[in-house]
Amino acid sequence: MSRLDLILKNGQFETHGREAPLDIGVADGKIVELEPNLTSAREIIDCAGLHIFPGLIDSHVHFNDPGRAHWEGIETGSRALAAGGGTMFFDMPLNSSPPTLDGESFDLKRGVAEKTSLTDFALWGGLTPGNLNKLEELAERGVIGFKAFMSNSGIEDFPRADDHTLREGMRQAAKLGKIVAVHAESEPMTGKLATEALAQGRITVRDYLDSRPVAAELEAISRAIELGGETGCALHVVHVSSGAGVMLVKAGRERGVDVTCETCPHYLTLIAEDMEKLGAVAKCAPPLREKAVAESLWQRGRAAKVNTIGSDHSPAPPDMKVDENFFKVWGGISGIQHTLPLLITEGCVKRNVDLWLIERLTSSAVANRFSLSDKGRIGIGWDADFALVDLKAEFTVRAEDLFYRHKQSPYVGRALTGRVVRTILRGQTIFRDGKIVSRPAGKFVEPTRR
Ligand code: ZN
Repeated sequence: MSRLDLILKNGQFETHGREAPLDIGVADGKIVELEPNLTSAREIIDCAGLHIFPGLIDSHVHFNDPGRAHWEGIETGSRALAAGGGTMFFDMPLNSSPPTLDGESFDLKRGVAEKTSLTDFALWGGLTPGNLNKLEELAERGVIGFKAFMSNSGIEDFPRADDHTLREGMRQAAKLGKIVAVHAESEPMTGKLATEALAQGRITVRDYLDSRPVAAELEAISRAIELGGETGCALHVVHVSSGAGVMLVKAGRERGVDVTCETCPHYLTLIAEDMEKLGAVAKCAPPLREKAVAESLWQRGRAAKVNTIGSDHSPAPPDMKVDENFFKVWGGISGIQHTLPLLITEGCVKRNVDLWLIERLTSSAVANRFSLSDKGRIGIGWDADFALVDLKAEFTVRAEDLFYRHKQSPYVGRALTGRVVRTILRGQTIFRDGKIVSRPAGKFVEPTRR
């Protein structure tokens, strides 16, 4: 019997300076050989014509399990992730019920995920005014970090972190060696603008867009960076929607604050006008921006000032997506299945962005920032997680091909380039040619202590 379980032959991938072409040899779920002309294994996959990405790591999803699996759920969400070339997700502490605010709720969610997740996973804990005394027990259980909202989260059981809470939480997180992620929008600004609009009966998509200006994002990012600097806490600003926001984070980093930022495919591939055209399915917060702002994000991303890309996949049942008052429509975009093709199409094909950058922002950079020692890279000793992508294949997103519980997405009807043909988790194929081909096999992954 061969020593190798799997060989990936003839594929292209980033070899970090080594001479290509190399084959990838896998044993016991790990990459053990990178050599030309590997020959003997239990399974050999011919990857001719395909690009091999490290499995995509999505650090920002809302699968809402347990308690609100009827919105999405870990089972359906992780299948959609795998169909998009993903092998690991970090689930946000909301909108599951209970939210992940203490050890008990963490254990509950971990238990559900271990039974139902097709891919590996990590779990975020929450940082709210009511759970400052629970951060330690969450850290002990191996949370990937703590997530706080600087504006209203939209859900009652996950209250916004006021500045005192955020500062205190960051102080503790620094001691515990954990990263804090913030949803950065100014509540005083967005709250006031929304109240004013509603009082005047202004309830359209445009009114909603106007209530959440870029300035609200920039103000909150600045405040979070100050607190991060003061407390020595590692800070990750999620879903930054503007190039100006990315530059604020960079400036913070340059003066010594441990701060990074994420953006999402929807801020790069959809604009405010799309929200007006598509309505509820494209509602998110921060909202989609004007074209020039979206382009500024591409510029900063291309210059490698964006640190990670996560989907912020956040679905809800269709009946929560209907209201003549757009402020009341439940926000959240379903997009986890198309991160790679969206970035390949809009980045590599249309804007000549380096494929390596797209790869890095969706895998190795995520693993580095969150201290995942075995994930995110095609190298000896790393987990054998791969996305095999036909970079030339063109396809149109169809509702019937979505693995989401609710077959809705702002990308339905969109022509994309770059089809994920196969996804491999620790050496096992979990998705192939449009079909899920594995039972739930996901494992909990803990970050190595920072
Ligand atoms: Zn989110």
